[in-house]
Amino acid sequence: MLDISHQVGKKLQEANLILITTHIRPDGDALGSLIGLGMALLNAGKNVQMVIDDPVPYNFHHLNGSSLISNKINREFDLSIAVDCSDVSRIGDIEKSGIHWDINIDHHITNERYAEINLIDPEAVATSEIIATHLQEWGLQFNKDVAEALMTGILTDTIGFRTYNMKPSVLRIAADLMEYGADLPNLYANGLYLRSFEAMRFWGAGLSRLARKGPIVWTLLTMEDRKAAGYTGKDDADLINVLSSINNSKVSVIFVEQPKGRIKISWRAISGLDVSNIAMQYGGGGHPAASGAEVSGEMDAIVKEVLEKTYQQLFGTENSL
Ligand code: 5GP
Ligand code: MN
Repeated sequence: MLDISHQVGKKLQEANLILITTHIRPDGDALGSLIGLGMALLNAGKNVQMVIDDPVPYNFHHLNGSSLISNKINREFDLSIAVDCSDVSRIGDIEKSGIHWDINIDHHITNERYAEINLIDPEAVATSEIIATHLQEWGLQFNKDVAEALMTGILTDTIGFRTYNMKPSVLRIAADLMEYGADLPNLYANGLYLRSFEAMRFWGAGLSRLARKGPIVWTLLTMEDRKAAGYTGKDDADLINVLSSINNSKVSVIFVEQPKGRIKISWRAISGLDVSNIAMQYGGGGHPAASGAEVSGEMDAIVKEVLEKTYQQLFGTENSL
């Protein structure tokens, strides 16, 4: 790991024109790692373009640097970096220009190691943790903007320091980030619990058809629900985290209808179960406790098949549904 980090540092120091991207439908860690690394490189005098093939969700607009993110590549670059992105297809249309990826920094166990240098640590709770750990070794500095971005990534991927992969060193990093100026309560509020009225109405649609099959709780959200609620995001507005707080359930699944007949599936599991295998069977990936995939098909058929498969693979020895 140290040797790979050393190679990353060397590349960062040599480069002048740097492209950084992350995955589509960016979450707090995608944005936190992108902005954290991007701002640290900008502060070091590098020419940096931060590009994402989707808009920055409104609840991350408070991060300084978020307004510098564009949705297409508009300058030459001599170093390309993807953060928090387990496979190239999740880079979206940016990837369609056939970029050779120099550096891939990520914490997904399912990472496809598509770059020349792959700094992958599945033990890290967030890609932002990896960046915070190595930043100074790479000759870069923390300041308030960098600290706030990285803190956001850590906070959101650990849902406020409460996922089972938490470890003491993460709290030490968070303490350092606070010393560099990260405003913990505000970042917590913006990243984790403040919701728009529209997002709550969207949740309502999903919660109204909440269902349980044995140890699995699930629901679905349609494009119609999104329109009726006035919710403009493309995601589930984090409803999956509400589902996974239901006691006596082991797995939660949400199906979110997308344009062009696509369906986004998210799985969450209690400690000790692994849903990343199932997500991979649907062309997705993620972590043992939190994974996702996007498929094409008709909602009812997909829901039925995915729930059956999830049940069979995780609880096949228990009484069937
Ligand atoms: P979410 O369900 O919140 O979208 O994502 C949960 C985890 O699974 C995240 O770590 C995310 O990066 C990963 N994930 C979600 N969707 C996909 C997907 O379509 N492909 C892959 N490889 N990973 C995904
Ligand atoms: Mn992440």
